[in-house]
Parts: sequence; structure tokens; C-alpha cells
Amino acid sequence: RTIREDGSEYEAEEHPTMISLRTGKPVLNAVMGIYIPQENDYRWVDINTVPQYAPGENEPYQVFVTFTDITERKRAEEELKKQKDYLDKLNNAIPEAIFTVKLPERVIEYANQAVRNLFGYEPEDCIGQSTEIFFPTREGYVEFGRKLNEAIVSGQDTLRLEPSQRKKNGGLFLAETASTFFREDGQVFRCITIVRDITDRKQAEETLRESEERYRALVDLGGEVGEAVVMMQDTEQADAIQTFVSDEWPRITGYAREELLGRSFFDLVSPEGRPASLERHRRKMQGEIMPGLFEMSITRKDGTEVPIELTSAYTTYNGERANVAYIRDITERKRAEAREQQMQQELNLAGRLASIGELAAGVAHEINNPLTGIIGFSQILLRRSTDEKTSRDLERIHNEARRAARVVQNLLTFARRRQPVKEYADINEILTRTLELRTYELQASNIKVITTLAPGLPEVMVDFQQIQQVFLNIILNAEQAMTGANREGRLTIRTREMEDCIQISFADNGPGIQAEHLGKLFDPFFTTKGDEGGTGLGLSVCHGIILEHGGRIYAQSEPGEKTTFFVELPLSTKETDKS
Ligand code: ADP
Repeated sequence: RTIREDGSEYEAEEHPTMISLRTGKPVLNAVMGIYIPQENDYRWVDINTVPQYAPGENEPYQVFVTFTDITERKRAEEELKKQKDYLDKLNNAIPEAIFTVKLPERVIEYANQAVRNLFGYEPEDCIGQSTEIFFPTREGYVEFGRKLNEAIVSGQDTLRLEPSQRKKNGGLFLAETASTFFREDGQVFRCITIVRDITDRKQAEETLRESEERYRALVDLGGEVGEAVVMMQDTEQADAIQTFVSDEWPRITGYAREELLGRSFFDLVSPEGRPASLERHRRKMQGEIMPGLFEMSITRKDGTEVPIELTSAYTTYNGERANVAYIRDITERKRAEAREQQMQQELNLAGRLASIGELAAGVAHEINNPLTGIIGFSQILLRRSTDEKTSRDLERIHNEARRAARVVQNLLTFARRRQPVKEYADINEILTRTLELRTYELQASNIKVITTLAPGLPEVMVDFQQIQQVFLNIILNAEQAMTGANREGRLTIRTREMEDCIQISFADNGPGIQAEHLGKLFDPFFTTKGDEGGTGLGLSVCHGIILEHGGRIYAQSEPGEKTTFFVELPLSTKETDKS
């Protein structure tokens, strides 16, 4: 049995030996596959036949046949063909154009399929052509050749260049070429050159370099004036991903650079400011020009809020749309503003208090005498009266007169500009003693008092009585506020040492204070308790006393939830000691 080269079996029609016998001619190099039953496999043989003639005979009487086992060679050939196919496939799968070029003529011997895409030539059409067809100018071609030569002469194996190349249709592109030389007997006779189009890459690199240069300058400028520079870009996943941050930004936010990059800028913006700033960002990204500075607040890594001021502009970064923001930490400025405002308010109030005080003192004295008369005589009449209705009216006169007297008393206290008598005192002790005065009433009103007093507070220079009056006033107000609320009252009193003062806070869970009232609390005669005999002088007296001590008193409130009054008394330094 024999086989064909493709491996299929067939019954050979005629064996070379028989052909030789029949025709009388030798058969040379017939290749056959022969089945060897012992091996259960085929072997390739090369068969040569030589017919032998007896003298005078026309027909051969025998044939010499030689069989040469060429299985190994055949297999090697097959292997080689497989490899060549494989290489062909590989070459054609690569998007880069690959040429084999004969040197020194620079004639193309082989071109892969990618040549069609890159240059517009059919691979077969390139074969036999000079590589000059790929160069836009003769000079370009010559220059490339010169460099090839230099590389060969200096013994290099490869050469990388970036020549300009020309397509069949005349279009130009910037290429990157890598040529590898093949030497034989020290002579270079061939090179393989791989060509790829790097126009896009070059352009991207150029844009990148340009924007980097530009931004480096901007960033340096920002750093000099203490501004952070943040580049934000939108991705499919999120808006305003931070793709570049200057050194200042980690400093302001408390996050490391790596934590900031890749994260949306809006993660940092405090929730109240988020919608507005997102809206501005979107409009910026659409190229809208919106000049101006924006203030917002961001949350630092440690949870604290930082006020920032931001200006931003539409730009491109790394070839993509971007919003570049210049950000300044305005904590200091805000603080100064708040201090300024507070001082202004205090000045106003102090001025008002002073003039009201003088007036009040005069009026109070004038009213005091007639009032004493009304109270005294109404009481006498009341004792004498037997008629029930008259008694009720008299009682009314008596009570109202007493209320008037209380107002007058308050006015006098308020107006009495007595200099405080200051001594070193323990604030915790003043508080404890003041609370003792109210223990019974607080319990009766079902108010729970929670005290958190910082131990070991430094003593401060205060007028014990005045400070007690202040605390008492605040506690009384809290009591009044909480009584009548349906829930159980809770008064939380804390003391703590701050940088330059002792802070005492009184928090109650009463009805709170409406925002529009907060600014007027310390104004003389501001009261919401007109019906219950409020005079509106308590807090303004407190305010005067605390101011006299060089301290601060203020209130915060969440209406419907709670009110907290803060008193801050300066730690006694030599300077305050003088007063
Ligand atoms: P008065 O208590 O005589 O009204 P104040 O000057 O002591 O005068 O207080 C002024 C106003 O401040 C009160 O009328 C009340 O409206 C408000 N206020 C003070 N403390 C509280 C508090 N703890 N909760 C709610 N409101 C308060």
C-alpha cells in the first residue's frame, strides 16, 4: 500500500519497477509512502530504478531498484512548512507592516498583509520594488539608507528610526521603524523592518507635554499664592474625578494625594453645597464661562469642615475635557470676619446698654417712690376690704404694682454700674452653689440636671456674686423654657478649659429659640414672656456682666429641640488681672 503526500492511501497503479520494466527507462526520484506493517506506520522512500539489458536485447531482463528512506527529511520538510505557515499567519496577524529587504539594494523580498492597511499597497505588488516607494522624498529615502549603513558599519544589530512615510495614495504619516540585520560571513545581506504609524501617539504625546508645561506653570503660580490646583474630569462612572492635584490640596483636605486622585471632587464637598457646585461643574464642562469666586465648605479627612473659596475654568488636560479649580483655604479669613462681626455686635449692644442704663436709672428712681406707695396702700386696703370683688381688684393692683417694682429692681441692677469685685474663684464651685439654690424647684419641675464639670480647672478672676447671677439667670430661663414642654426636662451643664478661656455651657431640651429671636436675646427688654411677667432684662444684665469680665456670652439653638447658652471667661493672665 502506498500513500499520497497528503496522507491518503491509494493502490499505486504501477510501481516504478514495473514502469521501468515496461518502458525500459529508469525512473528517478519517485517518492512513495510505504506502509510498514511491523511498525504500523508509513515511511517515505525515494525510489530509483535502473533497467538492465542483456547484450543484444531490447527489453530489460531485470531492474535495479534503490530505496532511500527519506522519512526524516520529509518530516523535516513538513515541519518547516508548518513553521512557515505559522510565521505567515503570525506576520499577517500583526498590525505593523513587516518587510524583508535585500541589502544593499534595498529591494523588498517579502511584505505581510498589514502593508495593505498601512501603505495601501498589495503585499504581492511590493515584492521586487525598492523601498523608495515608501518615502515622501528622495532625500528621506537617502537619509534612511545613510543611517542604515552607519548602524551596519558600527556593528549594531538593530536600528530604530522615526521617518516620515508615504502611502500609495500620497498620504503621509509619521512612522516608527525597527530594522533587524541578518549577517552572513560578517556581511549584511538582508534586514527585516517593522513599520508602525505613530502619528496619533506623537500627537497625544505632544498634547500631553504642552498641557503639562502649561499646568506646571499654573500650579507653581497657585502654590506661590497659597492656592491648590485641582483638575477634575468626568468619567463614565462619576463626575469630577480628580486627575491632578497640586501639593496644597492634600494639605488643605488632610487626604494623601493617592487618596484624592481617582476620587470625585464632590465626595469632599459638604452635602449642603454639593448640588450647587455640581451644577456649576456641569456647566463649566460644557464650556460655559462663569466667572467669579465661589465659597463652599469641604469635609476634611478628620471630619472637620473647612471653608474654601474656589474659582474654576474649562480646559483640556491630557487631551480630555477638564475643569481646573483654584482653591483657597479661607478658614482664617472666615474667623476674622466672624470676630469682626461679633465685636461689632458687642459694641452696638454695649453702647445701647450704656445709654439705656443711664436712662433707666433715672426713671427707676422716679418711679420707685410712687410704686412703694401703691404697693403699701393697696396692701392696707386689701386687709381692710370685706367685699370679695373689691378684694380681687385690690389684689390685682397689688400684684401688678409688685411686678412693676420687679422691673424697676431689674432696671436698677442693670443700671448699677458697680465695678465688679474680682477674686480668684473656682468656676465649678460657683456652678455647684448656684445649682444648690435651685435644687428643689428643678426637682419639682421634673428637670434632670446633668453636670460634666472638668476637673482641675484653673481659677479665674471673677466677681463671685455677679457670675452667680449670670448662671442663675440662665438656669432660670432654661427652667421656664422646659416647664410646660411635654417631655422630661434635661439640663446639661458642662465646663471645659479652652485655649484661652473657660467655657461653661447650659443645654436644655426646651422649645428652643427661633432664629429671628437669636440676635435679640441680649437686647434690653427683649422678652417673649410678656404675659408671665418677663422683663427682658435678665440676659442683657448677664451680657453686661460677662463683658465686664472680658468674656463672651452667646446662645445656639435648634428650634423645637434645644437651646445652649455658652459663657466664656478668659483665663486670668497678667493683663486681665489688671482690670
Ligand atoms: P425674660 O426671661 O425676662 O424674658 P431674658 O433676657 O432673661 O428675659 O430672656 C429673653 C428671652 O430670651 C426670653 O423671653 C426667651 O424668649 C428667650 N430665652 C432665654 N433663655 C431661653 C431658653 N433657655 N430657651 C428658650 N428661650 C429662651
